[in-house]
Amino acid sequence: MTTKWLYNVKIETDYLRAAGITSGTATKNVDVRLVDGVVAEVRPQQHVERAKEDFDGRGLLLLPAIREMHCHFDKSKLGLPWEPIKPAASIVERFTQEIKDLTAVNATFEDRMSRLIELELANGTTFFRSHIDVHPKIGQKFLEQAQAVLAKYQGIFGYELVAFPQHGLLLSEAYDEMKRALANGATLVGGVDPFSLDGNLEKSLQQTFDLATQFNVPIDIHLHERGDAARQTYQKMMALTADAGWQNRVTISHGYGLQDFSEVESQEIFHGLAEQGISLISSVPLDSVRPPLEEIRQAGVQLALGCDNIDDSWSPFGDGSVLEKLNRYAEIYQLTTQEALTEALSLITGQTTMGPDNFLTSGKPANFILTDSSCSAEFVARKTPVETSFYQGEICFQK
Ligand SMILES: [Zn+2]
Repeated sequence: MTTKWLYNVKIETDYLRAAGITSGTATKNVDVRLVDGVVAEVRPQQHVERAKEDFDGRGLLLLPAIREMHCHFDKSKLGLPWEPIKPAASIVERFTQEIKDLTAVNATFEDRMSRLIELELANGTTFFRSHIDVHPKIGQKFLEQAQAVLAKYQGIFGYELVAFPQHGLLLSEAYDEMKRALANGATLVGGVDPFSLDGNLEKSLQQTFDLATQFNVPIDIHLHERGDAARQTYQKMMALTADAGWQNRVTISHGYGLQDFSEVESQEIFHGLAEQGISLISSVPLDSVRPPLEEIRQAGVQLALGCDNIDDSWSPFGDGSVLEKLNRYAEIYQLTTQEALTEALSLITGQTTMGPDNFLTSGKPANFILTDSSCSAEFVARKTPVETSFYQGEICFQK
């Protein structure tokens, strides 16, 4: 059993309210005892002699660590000289071009992926959900290369890998490769546009759910479907989730088509998704494809954020900061009150900082960041830099 103290850290305790106005957040300085990488005790700060394994938090704000819920370890070209993305008229043209780009790239897979990881670690990420392309053109190559890199980072951060049939589960006949990937360590089934890319909604989704139930894993599917294709896709997703008993194990990434319904229909679909525990992950695009994320969240759908494109063949934008995405989200949806900004932090941490079951509850993994901020609302609004990150009680990034 290893015990250590993370001492002299600031935590949030309550909102400061008077005459119906919230003027800020109350904080106090505490010491946190960590046993085997989990929180064991929080006590008021004490001025006692420290052991050499203890860590001085210097009065900085302690927050839950950031979760990157949508990235592609295999697609980044980070570290290479600037190159504009090539024109593409469709998703098919885009991924066909991408194969050429990634083959021609003058850097190893390991270097590119490591740069992405280091960049995100420096931004407070200690958990990654990465999609990894799996289809006959690539086979298991990217998955194996990603696993080799991850082996070098063992114990530094948490992760999960989604077997992702980028070229279409049916279109590229990826089913067998997907099975292989799931047998070889991928822990989620991915997917992309069963209607418009695969051209057979029923069959594509059925195969996706077959893979999930066969390997007893969750699903995370990229849906760019719009209009009627979206309507049919979401309805089918909900029905299959209910049939398979896959509640709370299905995620939709992007969900562009969630803006294409009438008001009545929207409410029906949003509540249907919430009821089936189907969650949504967004990279908060600034263009017209962005669905009404805050309305969807208010309807009870679990929402998380991810960077997605970070210097890849798809978009010239993206800086590897999930906090940047949250800041953007807060500005778009005008989350300007102390409460709204504070609560929004859960979109990138999956945790709360106050109240029951907050991130410092005994038994929770000691995945934290320290930042020079007065409260989480300031952290979200001002994007104060991460000074130190902890994964399972160990420092995984230090500025
Ligand atoms: Zn993606």
